[in-house]
Amino acid sequence: MATTRDYYEILGLERGASDEEIKRSFRKLAQQWHPDVNTDPDADARFKEINEAYQVLSDSGRRQQYDTFGRAGVGGTGAGAEGYGPFGGFQGFGDIFDAFFGGAAAGGGARRARRPAGADLRYDLQLTFDEAIHGAEKELSFTSLDICTTCEGRGTEEGSEPATCPGCEGTGEVREVRNTLLGQMVNVTPCGRCRGSGQVIKDPCLACRGDGRSERKRTLRVSVPAGIDDGHQIRLTGEGEAAPRGGTPGNLYVVTHVEEHPILKRDGTELYQELKLSITQAALGAQIPILTPDGEEMLEVKPGTQPGTEIRRRGLGAPHLRRAGARGDLHILIDIEVPTSLSDRQRELLQDLAAESGEISADGETTPADGPRTGPGKRSLGDRIKDAIS
Ligand code: ZN
Repeated sequence: MATTRDYYEILGLERGASDEEIKRSFRKLAQQWHPDVNTDPDADARFKEINEAYQVLSDSGRRQQYDTFGRAGVGGTGAGAEGYGPFGGFQGFGDIFDAFFGGAAAGGGARRARRPAGADLRYDLQLTFDEAIHGAEKELSFTSLDICTTCEGRGTEEGSEPATCPGCEGTGEVREVRNTLLGQMVNVTPCGRCRGSGQVIKDPCLACRGDGRSERKRTLRVSVPAGIDDGHQIRLTGEGEAAPRGGTPGNLYVVTHVEEHPILKRDGTELYQELKLSITQAALGAQIPILTPDGEEMLEVKPGTQPGTEIRRRGLGAPHLRRAGARGDLHILIDIEVPTSLSDRQRELLQDLAAESGEISADGETTPADGPRTGPGKRSLGDRIKDAIS
């Protein structure tokens, strides 16, 4: 079971990881696996697992207990680490304590006797911005170990049956009894001879040499849900590598990579775009075409719109993965572009405007600092800077 995994492994870290590394990795994984954003049916379990690992590793006392005694040392439910203290000296008993006190109780015993499972696979899927917003049907093509078609996964030649493994007498595990200070300890490991399957092949299939698997080109279709984001994972249960001779196949994890959009920037369900207005559009108001994920749309800009204004179009963001029909918003951030070159006519008109506003005299000269004013609100930026300096 996933709950018996090593805490460092869960967070993708080495044993000696620094506090900062633990924090960073936790933050990244928690975001990635948050059940609100991750559609993987395992997301809940993974998120809990990540949290549990972080609870222990972020606390220096509990981390030290864990490093020394394994899960038994931190008890999962706070079983009192001190109680296991006396056993601390016996290295290598971590597994046994796990089985008694740790998460392994939830099926950990059965895990060892189970046939070896197939490996999980990862598929990196490129998506366009639009595919991520609206969802898509994608075809995945890859080569992986699949069930051998010649022997249908049995690993034996036609007419021959697998025999019971003489190494473990079919149990798939080897028990080693040791006498210790605490009494007899039983150490159970998978049988090396049959790799835990309990069976050996006398007449191996010639196509797969008894493995029951062969490399095959595979094609799968996957439904990418609307609203998926960069770095999300979609789990395709049982679509990973086949297991040798009929065990449980692994899972295929599709990791999404979403292309950036040249205009629309995305943050979760929120979309942003910058809209540059000319000074006249900002002053007089205008109808301006904007891009939304659903196509082009006209945006009404009110007269007197200021730079830095944010106009929000509700429901034109990215869909929520967990709330059907719900979408984020599209935020339009207004910037105002001041022209850098003017025609003679444009210059004349702007000078007329400046004269009308009392900023310059009609002949184009800047008025003196003590020129006509109607109040502090109308003072030009240049004047206010001058005031501040003097
Ligand atoms: Zn075969």
